[in-house]
Amino acid sequence: MRNLVIIGSGCAGNTAAIYAARAQLEPLVVTGHEPGGQLSLTTLVENFPGFPDGIDGPVLVENMRKQAEKFGAEYRSGVVEEADLSKRPFRLRVDGDWIETRALIIASGASTRWLGLPSEQKLIGHGVSSCATCDGFFFRDKKIMVVGGGDSAMEEAIFLTRFGSEVVIVHRRNQFRASKIMLERAQRNPKIRFITPAVIDEVFDVDKGYVTGVRLRNVETGETWTRQVDGLFIAIGHIPNTAVFRGQIELDADGYIVSKGGARTSVPGVFHAGDVQDRVYRQAITAAAAGCMAAIEAERFLEAESH
Ligand code: NAP
Repeated sequence: MRNLVIIGSGCAGNTAAIYAARAQLEPLVVTGHEPGGQLSLTTLVENFPGFPDGIDGPVLVENMRKQAEKFGAEYRSGVVEEADLSKRPFRLRVDGDWIETRALIIASGASTRWLGLPSEQKLIGHGVSSCATCDGFFFRDKKIMVVGGGDSAMEEAIFLTRFGSEVVIVHRRNQFRASKIMLERAQRNPKIRFITPAVIDEVFDVDKGYVTGVRLRNVETGETWTRQVDGLFIAIGHIPNTAVFRGQIELDADGYIVSKGGARTSVPGVFHAGDVQDRVYRQAITAAAAGCMAAIEAERFLEAESH
């Protein structure tokens, strides 16, 4: 029986682990299917306070883990396959083993939403990317396409103009979800062009093993055409990693955990931290802060229970 299990090893989970370990809770961190979380996919992080010259994302998150381990946090690689939060102790199945815990912090993050085309999936890492910061550099003077109509798409497109010879934003509607300021910034950028209302039906060239182009379709007229592309960036949002908790804690329509104030979820003893609940800020520093809050609340919950 554990005092506290933390699901996820990104900024939120690791920070929760540091606080919980220092509070002598001997937390168990289940690393999840993307150990290190989003930071492990980035390069230089320049906006995490305390590092005036920036710090590599993977180094930052690894340092957090070392810090947590120094105070007694235990890490186990694996994924939660099933959960029973209907009564305490909570039960979690991790790679076939059932683990019991008095309290739980869900810091399982949110994963990239992909278009879901077989050709797209086969070319991930070979010209298809979800992270401009990570992969933009590989497309110097190349033709870049970004899919999406939200702030992420605008932000990624603007960032990618540093590298690409052209950046084309493809969006399925003529209206944009992006904030006015971000949209206008993208529209003003001479390197950015827009294709709307259009979707990608296929990514070429699976046989060659790298991206050479896409087949586009105008969703109003049905017209299709191909366009040469070297780098395809998908920026159509994220999917919170909450599938195993569906029906057990309150989630919103998109699957994000609904906060009940502070780090509390609808189930007493289960707390949230980071992108699994936050669809707005999604920063390393806000995830770290959320991890801290969740650990403090878990500690108080366990303390109150023991009296
Ligand atoms: P988002 O706001 O949910 O936008 C996702 C976009 O992808 C939408 O335009 C959507 O089209 C499109 N889309 C979704 N599924 C698609 C599919 N299967 N095929 C084609 N297009 C699809 O997500 P986001 O841009 O990642 O932003 C998430 C949150 O982070 C927002 O609150 C945003 O403001 C915030 N954010 C802020 C900044 C910033 O301020 N600097 C930067 C990044 C993110 P529809 O519009 O047609 O649904």
